[in-house]
Amino acid sequence: MVELNKEVQYVKNVGPNRVKLLNKLNIYTLQDLITYFPRTYENRGISKNISECENEEEVLITAVVIRGVNEIFARRMKIYKLIVKNDDIPITITWYNQSYLKKIFKVGDIYNFYGKIEIKNGKYEMQSPVFEQSGINKNTGRIVPIYPLTYGVTQNVLRKIIETGVKETYGHLEETLPKFILEKYKLMGLNDAIKKVHFPENADEYLKARYRLVFEELLIFQLAILRLREQYKADKNGIEFDKNINMSDVINSLPFNLTKAQLRVLEEIDNDMESKKTMNRLLQGDVGSGKTIVAEIASHKAVKSGYQVAVLVPTSILATQHFENFKNTLNKFDIKIELLISSMTKKQKNLIKEKLANGEIDIIIGTHALIEEDVTFKKLGLVVTDEQHRFGVKQRADIVAKGKNPDVIVMSATPIPRTLALILYGDLDISIIDELPPNRKKIDTFAIGKKEEERLYGFIKKQIEDGRQCYIVCPMVEENEEQDLKSVLELWEKLKQDVFSQYNIEYLHGKMKSKEKDDIMLRFKNGQIDILVSTTVIEVGVDVPNANLMVIENAERFGLAALHQLRGRVGRGEYKSYCILKYESQSKIARERMKIMCQTNDGFLISEKDLELRGSGDFFGTAQHRNTGNENS
Ligand code: ADP
Ligand code: MG
Repeated sequence: MVELNKEVQYVKNVGPNRVKLLNKLNIYTLQDLITYFPRTYENRGISKNISECENEEEVLITAVVIRGVNEIFARRMKIYKLIVKNDDIPITITWYNQSYLKKIFKVGDIYNFYGKIEIKNGKYEMQSPVFEQSGINKNTGRIVPIYPLTYGVTQNVLRKIIETGVKETYGHLEETLPKFILEKYKLMGLNDAIKKVHFPENADEYLKARYRLVFEELLIFQLAILRLREQYKADKNGIEFDKNINMSDVINSLPFNLTKAQLRVLEEIDNDMESKKTMNRLLQGDVGSGKTIVAEIASHKAVKSGYQVAVLVPTSILATQHFENFKNTLNKFDIKIELLISSMTKKQKNLIKEKLANGEIDIIIGTHALIEEDVTFKKLGLVVTDEQHRFGVKQRADIVAKGKNPDVIVMSATPIPRTLALILYGDLDISIIDELPPNRKKIDTFAIGKKEEERLYGFIKKQIEDGRQCYIVCPMVEENEEQDLKSVLELWEKLKQDVFSQYNIEYLHGKMKSKEKDDIMLRFKNGQIDILVSTTVIEVGVDVPNANLMVIENAERFGLAALHQLRGRVGRGEYKSYCILKYESQSKIARERMKIMCQTNDGFLISEKDLELRGSGDFFGTAQHRNTGNENS
């Protein structure tokens, strides 16, 4: 057997520098390395004749060098041009700022190039392709795995290291599944599955390998959840909250009527709270369906029964907003509510912690700062976590451990079909708010191309002139945080200097300090900012009723669920609201996604479609067209 716990630095090709980078990807051991699975694959196995290629197509071509690299000095960079020939047609290959390329290519050598073909005026070009001498078949010439990356690691390097790790372990991995299961479900053995999931020779191999690995993961997950559920069913040590505390006290004080769905869910929660059993409940509902108020009413009951409540939230912006909301609803009931977020000073935090410990605070709303060890409660009775998918089970357990069998409500705004919820949250009971408050209007959604940009700007201006506000969201550029910032900052600058110079336009991104973010968000909420350009940091739960227009740049890069979450940021007030999806991609899936978004506002329907579209079949197809430009750098 191999030593799977062996530190990754002892794997061949891994030096001290690379160890650090691998650690960043959470790869510490040989086991981590071989179970670091590809995000997608590119079929670089079959080379095409250049004359068969279409413009903008991502292809593999095999070509002979007919003129060595030419160095050209442009304003701020060096450009390297190489001319190769395939099918008797010359192709110009271009790279930027990579002087080492000068020495590599010799006339007559045959190379593979994988990249996007551009055809301009009958001339063929390729920019920054992945390349490799023909016949080597490592980074081209086969189906190539593409891994999730971090800054500083390249696909080629990681691929090489993983291939080494896989070779080292192949044939030596101990089978994890019992033989009868392998046979009954016709599963691939572990050794082959690990090898083939990284380096499949065809789609069939990949599918079989993946099937086996997913099977195993789900099996273990289900067994664990079953066990948790059995424990929790038997549990009779939960808190029995006071039957005399009536939820209708709060309900009657609200400026609106609760929906039927909210009332039903509250009834379920009320029953759980009063029973001996510890409540563990998933509260699911589309964005804007009114989950927060449900949590507020449950919190009231807990506090009036003599307990404290902790509300755990993923971002400071959201914590601050919840804090305001909770105060609005509950202040009149003489309940002490405080906020604990990381941007507070040590002194402020210590004061809060002291008050929590001696029971002077009834409800604490906070971010991860709440989980820290030195946060203690006098009598924690209810834990609410918002936007569950941002927290791990461990974090939920950590906060729960600060009380003695507190009741738990897990709120999630990611609508998933009930069947899937049962699999993912099998340890929780499920309450669903499947109805929006009556004042909600449908958000009109349009998908547009670059040509319609001018019209869009006109539309934005009109909304602002009418007193409304607008969000413009840029996609996160995966694998590259720097690039992320750039896209937001560049767009902001362009719009500020040019189209929207007369308005207040600000930006927001994940790298800003919490305090800066909160400040911007607060000013946006108060109407002091007209246009907010941001990354998806605003995705989570922020409520600005006056904002009625959501523009999403490069919408094709988002999944349906994310688009739906983003769109949910508007349509929260009395104004007619719009969502504009800007997209460029011609892929079928992208078009399909846009169509669904334009057709429906129903989160549950969208999540079902999302599953359908993401269905397994398309991994070798067009699902993920990506720019491979940086891979050799
Ligand atoms: P969610 O967290 O589910 O996305 P929120 O709890 O933030 O939704 O609710 C969105 C907005 O709707 C809030 O301003 C809230 O006060 C309001 N709201 C909640 N329930 C109702 C209701 N039954 N009728 C009218 N407005 C409601
Ligand atoms: Mg919410």
